[in-house]
Amino acid sequence: MNKIMAEVDVKSGLRSILQRIDAACQKRNPELRCLTPRLVAVSKTKPIEMIIECYEEGQRHFGENYIQELAEKANNKDILEKCKEIQWHYIGNVQSNKLNKILGIPNLYIIETVDREKIAEALNKSWPKFNENGEKKLNVFIQVNTSGEEAKGGVEPTNVISLAKFVIEQCPNLKFDGLMTIGRFDYNVEDGPNPDFLCLKRCRDEICQHLEIDWKDVKLSMGMSDDFEHAIELGSTNVRVGSSIFGYRPRKV
Ligand SMILES: *Cc1c(COP(=O)(O)O)cnc(C)c1O
Repeated sequence: MNKIMAEVDVKSGLRSILQRIDAACQKRNPELRCLTPRLVAVSKTKPIEMIIECYEEGQRHFGENYIQELAEKANNKDILEKCKEIQWHYIGNVQSNKLNKILGIPNLYIIETVDREKIAEALNKSWPKFNENGEKKLNVFIQVNTSGEEAKGGVEPTNVISLAKFVIEQCPNLKFDGLMTIGRFDYNVEDGPNPDFLCLKRCRDEICQHLEIDWKDVKLSMGMSDDFEHAIELGSTNVRVGSSIFGYRPRKV
């Protein structure tokens, strides 16, 4: 066992996050009680052994944001053998020259970061080549840049309706499943509800109104280790938690 693993008990970390998710659910408005938030365990930079441990404890959804790393992990022999029901979420920027690499990921469940028509169109066109029996649509979330920070990916909130409409109407091989935001770094919850989370919810409501979709059918992917409980109280249905399960993660250089 290597050093990082010896210091972190993944199984108890996972159990504790699941309990905190449950507790946060109890604090929500009654209208949200029908929705159970999904935990995506973000395993970036962490070893295969930790993913397997987490899987053995019952976790199925895992997230990665570097394509090369995701491809290596998803194709790893032990992962393929021991984690047959794993569901991978790609949560990194989608570069147009790497689409085939993403689409070829075994057990790819969703791409959470579609943020422009060109990418949606290209994914729509290529997916049938990777989807052998032709029955499954590729799940996508649209990433929204709710904080207006230039370095962040995501469509501007003012353009989100037209992108959602494009995916729904022009991309028959894609399933528009929700919206995703990363949100500003270091927001202090004591200053009130996080404006990024409120913005994402507003985008969802506008899409649902314009395109006549039930809001319960559009997921909200928001909330990470530091703020997932807050995000759940504001309506998150997909939280992406890394370091609180797998331990501290040095910044990638
Ligand atoms: C790394 C990452 C996370 C998880 O962050 P933690 O703070 O470790 O929970 C969530 N979402 C995205 C897009 C990430 O890149």
